[in-house]
Amino acid sequence: MNRRLRHYVCGSTSHDLAAMFRGAPRERRRFPSGVFLYDGENGRRVLFDTGYATGEWRTGWRGSVYRRLLPPRVDDEDDVAARLREDGVDPASVTHVVLSHLHPDHVGGVRRFPGATFVVSEGMLRTLATPTLRSGVLTGLLPEWFGDAAVRVLCDDEFSSREVGGVEIFAVDLFGDDQYLLVDLPGHADGHLGALVDGRVLLAGDAAWGSDLLPKAQRLRAVPRAVQFDADAYLRTARTVSLLADAGVNVVCSHDPLRERDLLD
Ligand SMILES: [Zn+2]
Repeated sequence: MNRRLRHYVCGSTSHDLAAMFRGAPRERRRFPSGVFLYDGENGRRVLFDTGYATGEWRTGWRGSVYRRLLPPRVDDEDDVAARLREDGVDPASVTHVVLSHLHPDHVGGVRRFPGATFVVSEGMLRTLATPTLRSGVLTGLLPEWFGDAAVRVLCDDEFSSREVGGVEIFAVDLFGDDQYLLVDLPGHADGHLGALVDGRVLLAGDAAWGSDLLPKAQRLRAVPRAVQFDADAYLRTARTVSLLADAGVNVVCSHDPLRERDLLD
């Protein structure tokens, strides 16, 4: 099978850039929630994140607060399973689901993949063990079976140093063939992960609100800064990711408005 990396939009939210960054113009920007499907060797199908949950959210008061701060726009057709089917992909054929972190716009479609192996970091398990409003995790969005799902946990000490275009990253080679590296991109959430696909495309998750906003990370206002798990690490990660982009890696953030569906062409 040809290696492919495809992008789908599973819902969106919108935010005023001026409220996020000092010196930014008043501009309400729509931030789509991206999901990325990688077709690799030996029938591996790896999904990176799962977008927003469609239908009713049974997520209590934390969910109400979250929805007020970051109002989701999500219709039935935004469901990740619907997006895949529409593109001729059977959701049951997805072998692995990587979660960049556990925020609602990344885990909403987890329930669509009961047969997949979930790839998560140790930091995410820490967050799940003690969810708080600040950690932004709505456990009600995860299916009941999630605790019994097949899970590959990436331990903190598994990440090893390597160089990409002269930039040092810390990564785990998921299949041992250099095709899908899980990259430690700390700051936004505990154990926040990116993925370097085919050495060419970095799925940077929420390392920034958008790849064009990476340089603005240093001008993040107090509130969006305060909701980062580790604001200093977030700034360091933004610098590292910017250097990777300068080195020729195609950096794609989860909320980038992308025109192309295929990202390896
Ligand atoms: Zn997030």
